[in-house]
Amino acid sequence: MTTSEHHHITILGSTGSIGCSTLDVVAQLGGRERFVVEALTGNGNIGLLCEQARAAGARLAVTADEGRYLELKSALAGTGIAVAAGPSGLQEAAARAADWVMAAIVGTAGLAPTLTAARRGADIALANKECLVSAGALFVRTVAEGGGRLIPVDSEHSAIFQALEDDQRHALERIVLTASGGPFRTWSREAMAGVTAEIARAHPNWSMGLKISIGSASMFNKALEMIEAKHLFDVAPEQIEVIVHPQSIVHSMVGYTDGSVLAQLGAPDMRTAIGYALTYPARPALDVERLDFAKLARLDFEAPDEVRFPALRLARTALTRGGLQGAAMNAAEEVAFEAFVAGRIGFLDMADIAETVMERMIDWPAAEDMDAVFAGDAAARRFAAEAIGTRAAA
Ligand code: NAD
Ligand code: MG
Repeated sequence: MTTSEHHHITILGSTGSIGCSTLDVVAQLGGRERFVVEALTGNGNIGLLCEQARAAGARLAVTADEGRYLELKSALAGTGIAVAAGPSGLQEAAARAADWVMAAIVGTAGLAPTLTAARRGADIALANKECLVSAGALFVRTVAEGGGRLIPVDSEHSAIFQALEDDQRHALERIVLTASGGPFRTWSREAMAGVTAEIARAHPNWSMGLKISIGSASMFNKALEMIEAKHLFDVAPEQIEVIVHPQSIVHSMVGYTDGSVLAQLGAPDMRTAIGYALTYPARPALDVERLDFAKLARLDFEAPDEVRFPALRLARTALTRGGLQGAAMNAAEEVAFEAFVAGRIGFLDMADIAETVMERMIDWPAAEDMDAVFAGDAAARRFAAEAIGTRAAA
């Protein structure tokens, strides 16, 4: 096989939960026989990054942490794998000629490199929902103008993408996002008030990175996903529903004007959505768990509680207000999440801080360009830090 027959790919955030699953899928689908890995990026986990780069035969390995450059360089000396570090290193990774880029950096840190890959026309497999929540329509437009495809990786959005036929879009009535409800699904607000990050990160069904695990417990993850759905599928806020489904088997649903509802089901394993994004529109053969319906016996659904989980109400507010509310909510949540993990604020404070920042930015107009997105993001972070300072001092 010549190189031109290979699929050239890059994984931004390869050392994370989604990144590792992506490399597993790549290996299952033929590894070096079929794929050239242009670049892999990580942050502090140099050992894992080097191991991945060697195993996949990557051309470039990048650490986002500038201070770890020499360590990465010496660890890969003599392998022929190029190395780089810091924001410019991430840009170098994104700029390499991969046709397909997995955007799996966590948080807004993923926005700049993902945009670079989008502008040069790569297909973007999007796990990093934060960059879509923050940059919204502008992000979707940037991918379209670059000429690449935007393929969702988030399990709910992959499910919708799979159930939504292009020629039936005119008949789309609603999108139903399923939510596991997280570890505190049945807890009272009083009980949630005192939990630590250690308790909040233990997800009942999925094994994921820290931020999304905490976001599942607070349902901020679902809040981000509501906004993500709006931009990916171009639907109105009232067309987006959330239903709690504790087993995480129905990954999401599309309702049509004839009353039909199409759902995508599967085991809670991100590799199915990743494989779909990698081989779209084909379906790959994957070694993942098959559903045994007799063993499952039942699937449960219940209405979400916006009082115990105010993040859902905030997402709906952001959707109806428009403007820069998505960027405000996203940035405030990221800052509040870090403060919660550091033990500076309580679990319930995260939503309060996001709401405070959203109120302060209620008049900020929708961004016309990326500079406005970054300015809004920076302001929201500042406002969130102020709100946290007041609380931590209280
Ligand atoms: P993770 O924490 O496991 O991995 C994050 C990756 O980003 C790592 O490679 C890390 O080195 C890198 N990173 C961290 N901080 C960085 C920085 N400042 N600059 C550059 N790189 C940095 O996270 P994850 O669970 O794999 O999630 C990644 C993204 O995918 C998130 O946006 C998340 O919401 C989304 N997602 C994850 C899952 C899941 O099952 N894990 C499901 C759906 C969507
Ligand atoms: Mg999801």
